[in-house]
Amino acid sequence: MNKIIDEGKIFSLIEETKDYTISEVHNIINKALRKEGLSIKDVATLLNVDDPGLVVEIKSAAKKIKEDIYGKRIVIFAPLYVTNECINDCLYCGFRRSNTELVRKTLSLDELKRETQLLTRMGHKRVLLVCGEHPKYANADFVVEAIKTVYSANDGKNEIRRINVNLAPLEVEDFKKIKATGIGTYQEFQETYHRETYKKMHPSGPKSDYDYRITAFERAFEAGIDDLGAGVLFGLFDHKFETLALISHCHYLEKKIGVGPHTISIPRIEPALNAPAANTVPYPMSDDEFMKLVAIIRLAVPYTGIILSTRETTELRAKLIHLGVSQVSAGSKTDPGGYDAAEKDLATKQQFALGDFRTLDQVIYDLSKNGFIPSFCTGCYRLGRTGIDFMAITKPGLIQQYCQPNALVTFKEYLMDYASDRTRKAGEELIKKELDDFADKNGKEQTLEMLKKLENGERDIFC
Ligand code: SAM
Ligand code: SF4
Repeated sequence: MNKIIDEGKIFSLIEETKDYTISEVHNIINKALRKEGLSIKDVATLLNVDDPGLVVEIKSAAKKIKEDIYGKRIVIFAPLYVTNECINDCLYCGFRRSNTELVRKTLSLDELKRETQLLTRMGHKRVLLVCGEHPKYANADFVVEAIKTVYSANDGKNEIRRINVNLAPLEVEDFKKIKATGIGTYQEFQETYHRETYKKMHPSGPKSDYDYRITAFERAFEAGIDDLGAGVLFGLFDHKFETLALISHCHYLEKKIGVGPHTISIPRIEPALNAPAANTVPYPMSDDEFMKLVAIIRLAVPYTGIILSTRETTELRAKLIHLGVSQVSAGSKTDPGGYDAAEKDLATKQQFALGDFRTLDQVIYDLSKNGFIPSFCTGCYRLGRTGIDFMAITKPGLIQQYCQPNALVTFKEYLMDYASDRTRKAGEELIKKELDDFADKNGKEQTLEMLKKLENGERDIFC
């Protein structure tokens, strides 16, 4: 049994920090504002803060850190489900083996190509490939073929430029095969870091092995995958425990392999067909608690991206992007073949129900109207700025030099090629404003040059 998560220590820290003082909280917020990250004890203290005034201070600090590091950029992606076949029986998931009402579907490579093209014609450039776990329908060789199909499904200007994957843990040799296809991030959520709950929620199948799952990032790293995406499925156990365990896992990886997760995902359980733990959530968390928690994660690991999916409602997503979220999915479907409007029986194929039903164009419009720059950038990963290299660039804030120009240029590319008239208008106004406000003279010139190339018909421009 590995010792990555010290449950006893986490429980005692939650108890010990209940009698926090205002000055302790202020010290922690100030430390966070210096972007040094926080200790587990600091995080426990913040999680215990219930004074409304102090909660507002935590949220304001998260907003400030987010703006300093990420500016107004929000990276956009869509999930792409390849199969809903699964041999596990996770109590919260619609794909679980014992859900006999689910209509099982594995996309053929032709169907996958078509599904990819439906996404690229909307304007998507980044996808998250998602599969159930199955030795036949989702083994490493199958996933390799799927990734190659998605990368090669470009028709003209429409193309996927970065594929991240959310897959069951693999052996090093299999991770190597996946790495060789040119993926971005390997994403895997521990679901719950609490062993006893983990056991209950995963009664059978390979996923019932807690240790095999929690050590997956080390195997992926050994295979050369250095962009790792961690996460918790909130609602399975106490959210304070889970957040502390998640941050402990990040600290552990930083020590062990020299780099923490590139991203953290924050899914909350949504209703799902024949999934008892999704329909009666064991540890429900209010929206207010959730917002505070996201702000605390932003303070604790300032340089780690936070990913928010369409599980959450439009209204809550609009609030959360101020508190530290740096990537959002848009226009998502959680069933294989779901982007094809001709598909009829979506509800019986999907993994869980969604909270945000806006199209990609509506999401882009809303972000632009609120002053956020939607980014389809894939520059860092394609230029090898990943893992430790990415952190080395990010930490001193140099990323602004690349991210801001790349965000504006990929946003403009979206506006030119895919946007509705109202979105184009809102977006053009925002780009103009951002160019006027550009702090760095060289950055502005570089951006203007890249924008000119776009106007002249070039595509896929990045620095
Ligand atoms: N099957 C693989 C696995 O479990 O690792 C890969 C991806 S699984 C399809 C993607 C994620 O969906 C899971 O890790 C889990 O956190 C999340 N999920 C499952 N059921 C959910 C539900 N009812 N509501 C929200 N998220 C859910
Ligand atoms: Fe299968 Fe993943 Fe769903 Fe569990 S969460 S049933 S492993 S698809």
